[in-house]
This record gives sequence, C-alpha cells and structure tokens, in this order.
Amino acid sequence: MEFNIALLKGDGIGPEIVESAVAVLDKAGAKHGHKFNYNAYLIGGSAYDATGKPLPEETVAGCKAADSVLLGAVGGPKWDALPGDLRPEKALLGIRAALGLFTNLRPAKLYPALKDESPLRADIVAKGFDLMMVRELTGGIYFGERGRREGKYGAEAYDTECYSVMEIERIARVAMDSAMKRRKNVISIDKANVLESSRLWRETVHRVAKEYPALTVTDMLVDNAAMQLVKNPSQFDVVVTSNMFGDILSDESSQITGSIGMLASASLGEGKCGLYEPIHGSAPDIAGQNKANPIATILSAAMMCRFSLDIPAVADDIEAAVDAVLNAGWRTADLAGTSGVAPLSCTEMTEKILEAL
Ligand code: NAD
Repeated sequence: MEFNIALLKGDGIGPEIVESAVAVLDKAGAKHGHKFNYNAYLIGGSAYDATGKPLPEETVAGCKAADSVLLGAVGGPKWDALPGDLRPEKALLGIRAALGLFTNLRPAKLYPALKDESPLRADIVAKGFDLMMVRELTGGIYFGERGRREGKYGAEAYDTECYSVMEIERIARVAMDSAMKRRKNVISIDKANVLESSRLWRETVHRVAKEYPALTVTDMLVDNAAMQLVKNPSQFDVVVTSNMFGDILSDESSQITGSIGMLASASLGEGKCGLYEPIHGSAPDIAGQNKANPIATILSAAMMCRFSLDIPAVADDIEAAVDAVLNAGWRTADLAGTSGVAPLSCTEMTEKILEAL
C-alpha cells in the first residue's frame, strides 16, 4: 500500500529525529511492500521565522490532506520572548485542535535492557511496568477561559478548568477500548475531593464503565497518583486523565522509564488520521550536535503504523528492531549513564536500528 505522510520537523532536534524516523519507516515499510510519500510543512519557531506565524494555513491544510502526521518538536529560547499567540508551542495546541485530536496515548514501559537507567529503586524496577497513559487533549484548563483582571489584592490572572460530559465520555471510551486489548484495568485520575469538574469526570467515567463489565475501573486522586507512579508503577495498566494532569503525569512516567528520549505518543480523533510525536521537546541544548536519541520518534512512527495506517506488522518490526539494538547494548548519550558504553550519535543509532531491521 501507499501512504501520504505529512512531516512537521519543527525546531531544535526536530529535523534530526524526524529524518531518522523516515529512514526507519522506509526500510520497515519496504519489507512489507508499503511505500510512504512525504510532504514536509513548517511548524513552530521555524514557521514563525519564515512566515510570521507558528502554524501557517498551508501546514494545517497539508496535515488535513495526509493519511497521518509525524512531528518532531517545536520551541526554543530564540522564540521565548514572543507573545502567547505567536509562541511555537501555540502551534501544537492549534494543530491538535484543527485535526480534532482529543486523545493523547502515551505508553511508558520499562525496557529490561534499560532497567539500570531508571531512577527507581531496584526492587521496584524488578517488578517491571508497562502502562498506557490516555490524556484528554482538547479540553480542560489549557483551553478554558483565561485572563487578567484587578482583584482583591490588585492585579491577578485566572485560567478555567471546564469539561463537558461529551468530552469525558469519549476519552473514557478510548481508555476502556484500549484496556480491553491490554490487561483490562483502568485507573481514572482526578481531583474529585476539591474540583467540581473532577466530580463530573468521576461520575461520567463510572457511567461509561457500565458498558465494559469485563474491566476493573477505579479512581485515584492526582496527588496520590504522582506518588504511586514512583512507589508502585506496576499497578497501572491504562490510566485516563485530564489534559493538565496527563501532561504532568506523563512526564513523570517518562522519567521512571529512564529517558525522555524513549517515549512515543499518538494523538487521535474520530477518524484514522493521527499526529505522532515524541513526548520530549526540541532539546535546544543538544540541537544540531547529532546527539539526540531518535528512538522516541521512531517508536512514534511505529505507533502511526499501528493506529492510523493499520499496518501492525511494520510497527512490530520497528519495535523489535529497537528492542534488539537496546538488548545488544547500544545507547545514545542520554541513555549511556551507567552502562559504560561509548554513546552513539543520532545517525549511528539510526544505522543500528536499520541494520536490525
Ligand atoms: P526538552 O524535552 O526539550 O529537554 C529536556 C532535557 O531532555 C534536555 O536536557 C534535553 O537535552 C533532553 N532531551 C530531550 N529529548 C531528548 C532526546 N531525544 N535525546 C536526548 N536528550 C533529550 O524540554 P525543555 O528543555 O523543557 O524544552 C525545550 C523546548 O522544547 C522549549 O521551547 C519547550 O517549550 C519545547 N517543548 C516542546 C514540546 C513539543 O514540541 N511537543 C514538548 C515539550 C517542550
């Protein structure tokens, strides 16, 4: 089969890691007789420099026309002083909204080969973990009413957390469908002891859960969840939570795996087209130095094959090649921490994965 992929390389290490993922996709796809056609579009700071906008209309149109979208990362100190609407990160919110992507899937699993990289105690790591974080992406406080005003103590600012029943129901269904294909356990995370929006979240999740009698669906308060993720991560299978809680907890879950350079993500809507990206940022501190770990982007491309393109055999091959390279002891600088192995560059790591394929 032939697929049209929109590439959004973005800023910082974005172009390096997207090139790596493209090389891996091409080789893995060709093994199964598939061909990918790529169209690259500007996004983030580089788009602002070229067009005055972090998310040009051409980029939105190109992504809408594609079968799926692969993104590197956006942002960097060069654009930090820009006003809110022109900041590179605004483009991420914009493209997710334009494509109607309301779900973010973030797997976090411990690779046995990388267990020494995890900052967790050996007895906790020994139990392993493999969780899927399902984060609501287009609602909540990141999209609620905000502003500045004069308050009781002078100037103040406010942001609003707001969720509709419809938004909670559809994300709960995604989480529960995903759990049906995994270990049949969902933990919904909220702050229902304080927030009214969380009380509606909890009520709605449990109403939807009645449609899934095979699942165990329980609740956890977000402060406890932050603690449980480092104390006992093996208890989590599928985690479903709001936009902001998911943003924070998924970064925490990335750290317990050992490296932010390993974590992939998928953003999905009602249709097949999705946006696939590593969870890390543009790493301006190592940009242009060929030091970035491309694995998170390569695994994001694998997720794209599984969730949007329906070619799971290609995803399986890519994931197996990454496993093989890690098991053979190859590491990029972010992973080289305690192994004593000389770190590979971004292009060398890509070559190893291509060889394994
Ligand atoms: P970051 O994820 O870019 O970097 C944090 C640390 O992790 C840095 O030391 C970096 O070198 C390292 N790191 C990240 N990815 C790596 C990789 N693939 N290989 C090796 N090391 C890696 O987060 P930050 O420094 O807070 O943010 C930098 C910029 O990225 C900011 O402008 C921020 O707004 C933006 N950002 C973008 C996204 C996105 O595009 N989705 C996400 C987060 C942050």
